[in-house]
Amino acid sequence: MIKIIGDYHIHTKFSDGKSDTDTVIAAAKKTGLKEFALCDHSYRSWFVGMTDDKLEKSKNALSCRHDEQCRALQSIEGNILNFDGEIDVPPDAYKRLDMLSVGFHRFVTRGDGRDRKQFILRNGWTENLPDELIEKNTKAYIKAIEKYPVDVICHIGHRAKVYGKRLFECAKSNGCHIELNEKHIETLEPMLQIAIESGVKFILGSDAHRAENIGRFDRVINAIEKYNVPLDRIVGIDCQLTVRKK
Ligand SMILES: [Zn+2]
Ligand SMILES: [Zn+2]
Repeated sequence: MIKIIGDYHIHTKFSDGKSDTDTVIAAAKKTGLKEFALCDHSYRSWFVGMTDDKLEKSKNALSCRHDEQCRALQSIEGNILNFDGEIDVPPDAYKRLDMLSVGFHRFVTRGDGRDRKQFILRNGWTENLPDELIEKNTKAYIKAIEKYPVDVICHIGHRAKVYGKRLFECAKSNGCHIELNEKHIETLEPMLQIAIESGVKFILGSDAHRAENIGRFDRVINAIEKYNVPLDRIVGIDCQLTVRKK
């Protein structure tokens, strides 16, 4: 029986989650988590975007309820914006985070519009992506890991497809984790064997938008057992979290 002790991808009312911070903390404790991270959507997410004010409020709400038995961390689910791997979390913001997560999302505001048609719209709204786009996506993720202190790549393979091998090797050498995302584990599964072979570390993320889903990993556990993912390489099960300097 696999024991879950961490969940590093939880949404709150500060973006599109349904629960406030206090409800999330109570649920995390009730589930028996020893560590968790709030990971709300980022500065250029449509309608639900992060602001400096929201980030401050979120951090304050966590520090007011500080508990050694159940450690609360502040993250953000940043958006990769273009083929240069730029993200929408400003340095002033990520320096104030305990950890930084990034992924691809199609609902991001326009900004300077660079690569928007190919990177955001094509990846976001079409099914069969050509090899050349997958190659450019892979490079974009690698650049993001090299440019910013990214700790977690969220739901790999969900929409913006990538080639796993080089990305996993880059993540490993930079101390970045690959997320085992409960909502989207099926998009990582075809690459999971390659990820294991690369030696990269994994991290658990329920992507819960409701308190009752915090710490629930039924689909992820199935994948862990099916592919024999080493438990001592999974943060949230048997591996301690180490984050990059911000
Ligand atoms: Zn996401
Ligand atoms: Zn999410």
